[in-house]
Amino acid sequence: MEAAGADWIHVDVMDGCFVPNITMGPLVVEAVRRSTALTIDVHLMIERPERYINDFGDAGADYIAVHQEACTHLHRTIQLIRERGAKAGVALNPATPVESLQWTLDELDFVLIMSVNPGFGGQQFIPSALDKVAQLKTIIRKRGLSTLIQIDGGVNAGTIGRISEAGVDVFVAGSAIFGSDDYERTIAGLKAKW
Ligand code: ZN
Repeated sequence: MEAAGADWIHVDVMDGCFVPNITMGPLVVEAVRRSTALTIDVHLMIERPERYINDFGDAGADYIAVHQEACTHLHRTIQLIRERGAKAGVALNPATPVESLQWTLDELDFVLIMSVNPGFGGQQFIPSALDKVAQLKTIIRKRGLSTLIQIDGGVNAGTIGRISEAGVDVFVAGSAIFGSDDYERTIAGLKAKW
């Protein structure tokens, strides 16, 4: 992926509880860390992620996102990530409103807008995610913040133009790249459209 032109490596961690699938944990992040100098961005789709912030930090995560829906004490969990020296993000499921971040947004380095329901790769992009991005962008500008907006789910050559116009800064693509024959050409093609 590094050779093919990716800027970051996004790792989807699933626990079989917050989402039905089980994927990978800190050991895999550690292996990714040994393999690349790129920014490692860990997306925790797990219940009570505060239990694992240190493990993923130790494994080499540069960015860590937790789900708003998985945290009882979200503000405290954000502090934990920051104290660990990683960039802190919160992910919002398609049904979770932007307003839920009213009292935490100022503490965040990035917000991850889910444009599919988390848990599986290869799903269709949910268009209302673009309205959420636009709404969030307005709030970020109004508050004078430098919070990045990341989108995850259904990003491909057909959707990335609209997504970029809505104000997204960081694009996560899985199936679009790994399902293609030529990673380098696919990544270049996506970048040409944002
Ligand atoms: Zn993800």
